[in-house]
Formats: sequence, structure tokens, C-alpha cells
Amino acid sequence: METGLETKVKVFWWRVLHDYLPARKVLHVRHIEPTAHCETCGADEELVWHVLLECTVARMFWEQAKKITGVKLPCLRPDSWASDLLQDNVCSRKDRAVIICGIWSLWMLRNRRRHGEAGLPIRQAVMRVRDTAYDLWQLLHPQKEQVPKVLPRWKPLEEDWIECNFDGAFYLDGSGATGAVLRVTIWLFSGRFGEMV
Ligand SMILES: [Zn+2]
Repeated sequence: METGLETKVKVFWWRVLHDYLPARKVLHVRHIEPTAHCETCGADEELVWHVLLECTVARMFWEQAKKITGVKLPCLRPDSWASDLLQDNVCSRKDRAVIICGIWSLWMLRNRRRHGEAGLPIRQAVMRVRDTAYDLWQLLHPQKEQVPKVLPRWKPLEEDWIECNFDGAFYLDGSGATGAVLRVTIWLFSGRFGEMV
């Protein structure tokens, strides 16, 4: 069952991937915002990449994130960073959970600042990201129930019983191999047969 948190992050990431986040540069091009500059650091253009990875707040955030969670942002390119982050050779699944939650939080912090709300101090925001990422990770990868291990024990066969263990593998070209172990009260036969059809 999908939880609210998981859905929110998924929807957010879909918007990131499809470039649907309304950064000021985007709104400026659409004549909704009079200027495109970043209200936080004064950079000329507030692009999504800028808010999440380049702005002074973002840089502080990722620095703190590295200290607190040990997760370091991989080298990313401005034109393909969102899809690159989903590649296993770019970052591990656990790091990805933290990074995506971090990016989500940075966007939320930016919106809060825009609406005049006091943002969280960076350190507190990172702590929250760490907890959110942890929760998300647990949701996506539930721990398998611990089943107490019962070690199989060898038991002598009852008298007059014959046990036959049989296994085999067959290939598309018609070849294959199989093996069998026959056991009566004492070990009797073990063998392999090749080139079965
Ligand atoms: Zn900025």
C-alpha cells in the first residue's frame, strides 16, 4: 500500500523529471514573474537546477547533509541531473533516497521563503531530510520478517524405506544433466547422467 509520503515524493520527482517546477526563470519566460533573479542569493536566473544544487542555501544544505548523513552529491550535469540520479552507476539506492528527499525539502524551503514563512535552519532541515529518507527507505524496503532458522538435521531412514533425491537441468539445445542419490538405510548410489534428451 502506498503511503502519503511515498506518493508526495513520487509526484514531486515526476515534476522534476518533466521540468514542471515553477522556478522564477520559467515564470518570467511565461510573463508571470517580472524578473527571473533568485531572491535568495541574487543570481540572475532562478532555474530549478539553481534552487536545488547551486544556490547558496543549497550549497550549505548539501554540505550539512554530507556531515550528518555521510551522503555526498555525485557530479551532476545541469541538463540531465534528474535522470542521472536514477542511474545505479551514479549513486546507490540509499544515497538516492536521501538525495531525492533533500531535493524535495530544498524546494519546500524555497517555497516557504517565497511565501514569507520562516524557513527551517539548514541543519534542522537536513536532520528532517535524514529522518524522512530513512522512513521512505523503510517503506520501500520493508525488512523481511525474521524467521527463526531451524537447521535441518539428518535422521536415519526408517527400516524398509528408500529415499531418492533427484535434480536436473535441461537446455534449449536438448542437452542436459541430471543427478540422483539413492539411499536405503546405508548410502547406496550417487551418480550423474549427461546428455539427456
Ligand atoms: Zn540563489
